[in-house]
Amino acid sequence: MTSNDPFWKQHKQHETGNAADYDYLLHRVEKLTLVCRALWEIVAEQHECPKEKLVAKVAEIDLRDGHLDGELHAEPILCPKCGHKINARHDHCLYCGFNDLPKDVFTSV
Ligand SMILES: [Zn+2]
Repeated sequence: MTSNDPFWKQHKQHETGNAADYDYLLHRVEKLTLVCRALWEIVAEQHECPKEKLVAKVAEIDLRDGHLDGELHAEPILCPKCGHKINARHDHCLYCGFNDLPKDVFTSV
């Protein structure tokens, strides 16, 4: 696991292995939760969006992989060169080497 996150660098200096990974992941989850909450409050205030609409959208996105399990699984992407399905975590096609794969907005920022 590598990151430019100062929290990660600080923790890697003092801890190794699973404890450092756990602390880092916990920190990332807390940070993402904070950002999601801020975004939600901006949307709710500026667009007078009811909480029920957020809950329905979360369920809709959750079901895109066919399972209402509270988790978001990355959908495979199709290689534009050879057409094989590629796991979204890869930055190049494992079949033909094409390295300009289309990225989901959350993996491209
Ligand atoms: Zn390919």
